[in-house]
Amino acid sequence: MRPKYYITTPIYYVNAQPHIGTAYTTIAADVMARYKRLCGYETFYLTGTDEHGQKILRAANAEGMNPKEYADRIVSQYYKTWADLNIKYDYFIRTTDPKHQKAVQTLFSKIANNGDIYKGKYSGWYCTPCERYVSVKESSPEGLRGGCPVCQRPTEFLEEENYFFRLSKYRDKMLDYLKKNGDFVEPVSRYNEVFSKIEMGLDDISISRASFDWGIPLPSDQKQIIWVWFDALTNYLSGVGYPEDEGIFKKFWPADVHLIAKDILWFHAVIWPCMLFSAGLEPPLKIFAHGWWTMNADKISKSKGNVIYPADVIDRFGVDSIRYFLLREIPFGQDGDFSLPALLRRHNNELANELGNLIMRCLTMIEKYNGSKVPKSEGIDSSKELWNELFTSLEQKFSAYMECLQFSLALEKVWEAIKMANKYIDDTKPWVLAKEKTGRLSDVLYNLAEIIRLVSVYLMPFMPNTAEIIRQQLGIDDEMISIPSGLSFGQIRPGTKVNKGSALFPKVE
Ligand SMILES: [Zn+2]
Repeated sequence: MRPKYYITTPIYYVNAQPHIGTAYTTIAADVMARYKRLCGYETFYLTGTDEHGQKILRAANAEGMNPKEYADRIVSQYYKTWADLNIKYDYFIRTTDPKHQKAVQTLFSKIANNGDIYKGKYSGWYCTPCERYVSVKESSPEGLRGGCPVCQRPTEFLEEENYFFRLSKYRDKMLDYLKKNGDFVEPVSRYNEVFSKIEMGLDDISISRASFDWGIPLPSDQKQIIWVWFDALTNYLSGVGYPEDEGIFKKFWPADVHLIAKDILWFHAVIWPCMLFSAGLEPPLKIFAHGWWTMNADKISKSKGNVIYPADVIDRFGVDSIRYFLLREIPFGQDGDFSLPALLRRHNNELANELGNLIMRCLTMIEKYNGSKVPKSEGIDSSKELWNELFTSLEQKFSAYMECLQFSLALEKVWEAIKMANKYIDDTKPWVLAKEKTGRLSDVLYNLAEIIRLVSVYLMPFMPNTAEIIRQQLGIDDEMISIPSGLSFGQIRPGTKVNKGSALFPKVE
């Protein structure tokens, strides 16, 4: 039986079209899913949209639309953007799907039956942009003058008869779970943040709303709807068939990793596992919280007018260049700055010069010196062993970095090999070898063909189009592109006909 891998992104609110921040999480999950598929895993990649709650209702009302129609319109933008970014998810879940709604009610009933839900009165602050209750502990002595402690936007005072979840009951269990699973939350700074906050105590939380009806009704009280975060978090179960498709659900749950941005860590690392504990289900194996992008060192926000939409940059640089930049520019988990000069630099230097030129030089030389056919290695050039070793160590390092979602470091390793290959051409000077006719030229050309084949395997998860083009140019078939079997040196068959195409990455001015 093949091992399984289940990865998710958060489901995105439909009050705005996809931007570079949501694209970042979605591309990262896509890279990971593609990598695991290459490694032979039975992979499930889930993404989708969060369509209920007061925020969406208000956004729809502001446009004079009903919330479902409004959601449909934004969802079509998500479909398009993810297609433009070459995102290959297995399922796109919408919280308005009837199957999902049923799953939420089932989970709610399970938790209620375990005695963890009770009726009470919520009297306090609520942040509608975050769709979260702001606890007394979080408000400063002078109240909430600074707004929501997470997003700083104004909060609203709520007084409602609500249903509460006994989160407080799970404090010790949660701490114990964290102690036993030191990699449950990553990066480690986020783990520590969560741990110390739980140590201070957990309060029960309201998990229903009574003052509007855009949501999923409680199974036991049709006058209330289930809090949008309870609804949304359940997508990770319903997306793999909970509770009806038991086979699929059993195969994929628990999720291997929930990728999120750091602002929604508390919901995922604390509330969600406690809900699952209560329902008798296993928690996910890992929550990875990545950082935020700024734009030229400034916070990205609608009000500042500096939101970047993927389409703006795809048109100019191409989709693979954007995918590469986002994952290469900053270590996954840290904050980073999105600047056009930085994107331009990486595109022109690393993609057009280093990668693009390497491929072009290799193919041109094979065309010119060996009639467009990969030559047979004569065993004269001594560097074959060296390449062999380099690729063994590259394989180990690349896999290690990918397993801990350190995309920038994995790419850095691939680029070391690309630079070495370019230097190998400069050092061996095939154009001189061509005149010497010692047979060494065949070795060098063979090695180069093999190096670019290997590079194309490594780039598959990150830049699928580019990898595909390189493969076509090299004339190789699919069997050589799996991990790890495709990663050993010396697989390309002599006589393989190459097709030199045009430059992979035209320079952008
Ligand atoms: Zn907020």
